[in-house]
Amino acid sequence: MQEGPAQSPGTPSSPPIHLASFFLSQGDPSAMAYAYGRAGNPTWEELERELGRLEDAQATTFASGLAASFALLLVLGRTHRRLLIADDGYYGTRKQAGLLAPFGLELLPTDHTDFGALERELGRGPSILWSESPTNPRLRVHDLERLSGLARRHGAPFVVDNTTATAALQRPLDLGADCVVTSLTKSASGHSDVILGSVTTRDGKLHQALREVRNLGGAIPGPLEAWLALRGIRTLALRIERQSQNASALARVLAAHPAVLAVHHPSITDPKLAGRQMPRGFGPLVSFEVQGGAAAADRVVGGARLIRPGTSFGGVESSWERRARWAGESAPEGLVRLSAGIEPLEELRADLLRALAHAAGPQLGGPGA
Ligand SMILES: *Cc1c(COP(=O)(O)O)cnc(C)c1O
Repeated sequence: MQEGPAQSPGTPSSPPIHLASFFLSQGDPSAMAYAYGRAGNPTWEELERELGRLEDAQATTFASGLAASFALLLVLGRTHRRLLIADDGYYGTRKQAGLLAPFGLELLPTDHTDFGALERELGRGPSILWSESPTNPRLRVHDLERLSGLARRHGAPFVVDNTTATAALQRPLDLGADCVVTSLTKSASGHSDVILGSVTTRDGKLHQALREVRNLGGAIPGPLEAWLALRGIRTLALRIERQSQNASALARVLAAHPAVLAVHHPSITDPKLAGRQMPRGFGPLVSFEVQGGAAAADRVVGGARLIRPGTSFGGVESSWERRARWAGESAPEGLVRLSAGIEPLEELRADLLRALAHAAGPQLGGPGA
């Protein structure tokens, strides 16, 4: 978006959407910027420039976050067959890696706060270290600088899934990551209307390999989706600052509530490390467990008027779900993952307290009804 001054009268104030399956061409297509629409599109590239600018890196966008991680596994898995993936991160990435088991990828879910165990596993053969911080949905913070040091000593590519924080709050490439995967579906686009993903890296070879896999794998972004994400990213810094403030305030409300057994939020579980890695805020998510397990958690989610029930997160409207309703999710049965939007905090607080009272009933001190 910031490329070139574009000051001449008549220039559109917003970039166009290039809806084209092919671009006019004759002769050797390798010499042309655009020929067939699966290989390149100016609207994706506009988004990639913006994403690259946020991390001082090169970005490749894909049809979804999982399409991005799949391409990365195909490239890194050529030389590194052991996937040391965080055992409490996004369950979809672990399920996806299972698809590559018949082709020789070994799935090794590991606790990324247990450096001794990681050191042992890294020593057993060429591995990929795949972290996520804060993790979805438990919001545990991984020490990215320390993990990158470990990975480097063992020649392991170090991947960080930065979806929950986004590049506005955390820059893993500066902390030693080789590449960053982001589901742009969530906070990055921020308006719950797009499925999209990206990989950013400062390694030119990896960047080229990813583009080749995207072209031949075919999981390309749609130009309209790319445009919507570009539009969303313009306000990312503002949105995520407000969302982070709301989430941190709601974490304090939850921690003080008698019906709440546990609150998972970086401000509570690991404030020092989180404050160092994410000085501008901890993102939109806060997870918690209530007395009464899964049934009580379902009542909480059903008891709100403002906070919307549903999966995904990072949108401008608050939403939540009981996470273990998804098969394959390793979160506790009663864990609720709340995504704070940009609504006024007082409205959110009132809605949260109403829902908790709804779930607790009179026996747990709530007002009943
Ligand atoms: C949602 C999510 C993904 C997958 O992204 P999609 O856009 O849904 O394919 C990957 N990692 C994390 C942490 C996520 O939350």
